[in-house]
Amino acid sequence: IAIASEQFHHQQVDLTAGQQHYLGRVLRLQPGDRFIILDGRGGWWLAIWKGGQNATVVEPIRVNNELPIPVTLWVSMPKGSGFEEIVRCTTELGVSRLVPIISARTVVVPSPQKLARWRRIATEAAEQSERQILPEITDPLSIQQAWETLSDQGEEVDKYICVARGDFPHLLNCLLAARTGQGKGYVYNSLLLAIGPEGGWTTPEVEEAINRRFQPVSLGSRILRSVTAPMVALSLVAAVSEM
Ligand code: SAM
Repeated sequence: IAIASEQFHHQQVDLTAGQQHYLGRVLRLQPGDRFIILDGRGGWWLAIWKGGQNATVVEPIRVNNELPIPVTLWVSMPKGSGFEEIVRCTTELGVSRLVPIISARTVVVPSPQKLARWRRIATEAAEQSERQILPEITDPLSIQQAWETLSDQGEEVDKYICVARGDFPHLLNCLLAARTGQGKGYVYNSLLLAIGPEGGWTTPEVEEAINRRFQPVSLGSRILRSVTAPMVALSLVAAVSEM
């Protein structure tokens, strides 16, 4: 919900039908009960539900349960509703940016309606996980376009490509090695993880990634589905960041 931060006190906000349903039917709140509004830009606000679509903002709340550094996921889109599951679960796990990738072996190209649906799912998942930041779901990029975005990001990004077969170090070991040893700090400013499609990355794609300073990594000795792999990778990032 958008909040004008400079004049928050007693600001009236309109709730959507879905939000009214969630407060009234799912959480069973009564008019006059307090609840938390997330503004999608990192802000949490204490608000009072007046019933129906009406709510009043009372005051800002200061919390932070985001991952210590932003994590971008490149995911080569799986078939069916697989990407919806990825959006929901990786949002719960703290992803900052999800880039749907069209790689050599990707077999689906999403419609604009699909993209709108993924963004709605991300909003719902961020709300349910009480996140401060709404993850960005970018427009789909071909793998070539995705390579080109790297030059904007400099060398401060710790980049990994998950490869299902081969003798590569485990992502967990790489993440542990990238910690500074001081608190929960990382050597890098952000993380980028790339997950391939059902048919896997092609050899030239993996070679190109290595040329662009991605570290090829393993997620273990079993082959994971394209839907499972991003969740496992993100779970490792989230766990290491809280150890
Ligand atoms: N048919 C592909 C193959 O044989 O290489 C398997 C692709 S797997 C279903 C889909 C993607 O999940 C892979 O491209 C990779 O990014 C990731 N993945 C799955 N299992 C993995 C593992 N054990 N280690 C690293 N990445 C994995």
